[in-house]
Amino acid sequence: MPTCRHCSSTYPREQFIHGNGPMTQVCVRCAVDKGLVSKDDAVNMYDSGLGSARLQVLARRYSIFLYIPLLWTLWIMVIKDVQPWGLYFLLVLLALTLLTPIWFIYRGGQYSGDLARLTPAYDRPEGH
Ligand SMILES: [Zn+2]
Repeated sequence: MPTCRHCSSTYPREQFIHGNGPMTQVCVRCAVDKGLVSKDDAVNMYDSGLGSARLQVLARRYSIFLYIPLLWTLWIMVIKDVQPWGLYFLLVLLALTLLTPIWFIYRGGQYSGDLARLTPAYDRPEGH
């Protein structure tokens, strides 16, 4: 993946503008900031609304991997010694931990579809 000359960020090729000289290796966000392309021409730019919608989809997909260690920590620190809820919570936690990878794989298609829906239609120029 190429690196932008101005902001030094690495993006996929689709996130760069097409051109020579000052327009070489410039990401679309820097190009709009520096006036190299107008915002209307930058169809491949993720504006703040689209960016946050994409982040929300991403967070929904991966947040379960934050919750599971949190719940295990909660169980170890608080509920483990409480009878009988410690055991019940352990069983639920085990089921959740074992089902999460299956659920993650199962929802992969939905995630790809959501991200594709939130990706602007943009044809990369020839040779770029
Ligand atoms: Zn840049």
